[in-house]
Amino acid sequence: MATTHGILYIISAPSGAGKTSLVKALVDAVPQIRVSVSHTTRAMRPGEVDGVNYHFVSHEQFKAMLERSEFLEHAQVFDNLYGTSQRWLEQTLAEGYDLILEIDWQGAQQVRKLMPQAKSIFILPPTQEALRHRLTNRGQDSSEVIERRMREAVSEMSHYVEYDYIVINDDFAHALADLKSIFRANQLTQDHQQKRHAGLLSELLA
Ligand code: 5GP
Repeated sequence: MATTHGILYIISAPSGAGKTSLVKALVDAVPQIRVSVSHTTRAMRPGEVDGVNYHFVSHEQFKAMLERSEFLEHAQVFDNLYGTSQRWLEQTLAEGYDLILEIDWQGAQQVRKLMPQAKSIFILPPTQEALRHRLTNRGQDSSEVIERRMREAVSEMSHYVEYDYIVINDDFAHALADLKSIFRANQLTQDHQQKRHAGLLSELLA
C-alpha cells in the first residue's frame, strides 16, 4: 500500500465525449488510481451494473443521504440527482490512492471550494458532429433526448475555462496517453516525491 496521501482528480465532459471509456482504460492501466462510484436517482441503462457504474437509489434514499450530510457534493443533471459520498473518498485518499471523480461542472465547483488542491480535467470531443454522432450511436435515447443532450453538452462545455487541463478525445489512444501524462506529472511534483521518497532524500543529503 502507498504511504502518501493520494491526489484527487475531477474529470468532466459533455455526455458522449468518451469520458467513461477513457477513465476505464486509464484505471485498467494504472493500478494506483481508483474511481468514485456516485449515487444517482437516474434509471439504470442497459449494461449498467448497480454498485459498479453507479449506486442506483430512489429519490427518498438520496434525500435521506442528503439530510445525513453524506455527500461531498451533489447536483441535478438533466432530471436526475447525482452525488459523491464523502466517507469512501476520504478513506481512499488516505490509503494513498489517486482518486477520480467523474462529475459535472456544478459538482466540480463545489469540490474545488472544499478541496482546492484537487486537479481538474475537461474532456472535449473533436467536433460537434462527432459528439452528435456518438450520442446517436449509443442507441439508448430518443432523438428528442439527443437534441436536448446536445444543448446541455454545449452548456457543459462552456465551463472548460474552470479546469486545469483540457484533453481532446479525437483519437482514443492519444487522449489516453494525454490523461496518463497528466497523472504521471502530478505524481512527480516535488511535494509528492518528497513524501514518497523521504528515505532516499534523507540518505542522499546525509
Ligand atoms: P450519466 O447519467 O450520463 O451517467 O451522467 C450525466 C452527468 O452526470 C455527467 O456529466 C456526469 O459526469 C455527471 N455525474 C455523474 N455522477 C455525478 C456526481 O456524483 N456528481 C455530479 N455533480 N455529477 C455527476
